[in-house]
Order: sequence, then structure tokens, then C-alpha cells
Amino acid sequence: MGTPSARVPLVERVEQLLAPGGPLPIVAAGDPVLRRRAEPFDGQLDPALLVRFVEALRRTMHAAPGVGLAAPQVGVGLRIAVIEDPAPVPDEVRVARGRVPQPFRVLIDPSYEPVGAARAAFFEGCLSVPGWQAVVARPAVVRLLARDEHGRAVDEVFAGWPARIVQHETDHLDGTLYLDRAELRSLASNGAMAGLWAQPTPDRAAAALGFELP
Ligand code: ZN
Repeated sequence: MGTPSARVPLVERVEQLLAPGGPLPIVAAGDPVLRRRAEPFDGQLDPALLVRFVEALRRTMHAAPGVGLAAPQVGVGLRIAVIEDPAPVPDEVRVARGRVPQPFRVLIDPSYEPVGAARAAFFEGCLSVPGWQAVVARPAVVRLLARDEHGRAVDEVFAGWPARIVQHETDHLDGTLYLDRAELRSLASNGAMAGLWAQPTPDRAAAALGFELP
């Protein structure tokens, strides 16, 4: 919790980010803001500015396009993230990855813990690491604690692809990138992904590139 004077720059920075009205520039890996633990949200942005900021995150996520975006990815070190996944994928992929549609959500001060020991490993990417994907083994089911944009408590169990999204975005708020958790031998360019590894599961990639799956 900063002093009032320390908060002025943050509010000014957010106002400047929002002024043009379009999607926000996305910060790429290498920027320290992606490696710091973001500050808990305690009203640093007043309610009207929070609404505008969340809307800008949503607009930016749609434009990218992506299925989640955390505030540090636009250079704002607050524990705020948005998620939304219409899941426009073939049935085969939906079943293999549990990629069911996830409505728009705002996650404030989220944290998660695994539920059970099952892990799921799939390729994932990050808007802050453009051009690449890698396989990350993650808890298959997690319990998420957070607040929504109205300050209401969220205590919810996520499975399938939505569980992956909430873990990825919450990790951003802890200064963690998916590459920190990835099987680095799986690292693949978007071109390689499209040409070679579009299967519903990474089984063939694991055999061909030489990495383990859980
Ligand atoms: Zn990311």
C-alpha cells in the first residue's frame, strides 16, 4: 500500500494509457514489470478508472487476440487480470484439452491452489512472448480465490482449459512467465506449431522433440 503521493504516478500512467482509447500496447518479455510481484489492488484506481482500465484490458485481449491478459502485460503492476475464451475449436480439440467456452471475467487479487494431483500438459503461448509456444504441465484442476470487479468474493473450481488460463494469468501477477514452467525442449515457433504440432495433444511433439509428458 503506497502513500497518496506515491499513487499519483500510477493513476497518471493509467490515464495516459487509456487516453488514446484503443487497444493498449502489450509489454514483451524482458521488461522488469513482467518479473515483479504485482501490488494487491486496494483502490489505487477509483471505481470509474477501474471500469475504464478493465474495459481497456478486455479490448486489448480481444484485439491481440488472446484468452487472458494481466495488468503487468500493459505495464501496470496491479493484481488485476481479465479472461475470456469463446473457444472456437473443433470438437476433437475441445474434448482433448477441455477447452470449453469461458465467459468474460475480471480477476482481482487472484490466487490458486491445485485440487488433486492430476496434471495436464499442453502447448500454450503468451502475448508477451510473441511467436512461440511451449508445453506446460499444470495442475488439471485448481481452486481460484479472487474478487470480481464489484469487490465480490470469488471462490471457484476451474478445470480444463479455463484452469490453464487462470493459472497463466495469476502467474503473471507473481512475476512468473509460462516459460518458467515449460518443458523447454517443446519450445516451438508459431510456424512449427501450425505445420507440425496442431494435433489435439502434444504426444507426437513429445516423441519427436524428446520431452516428457506427465
Ligand atoms: Zn501471458
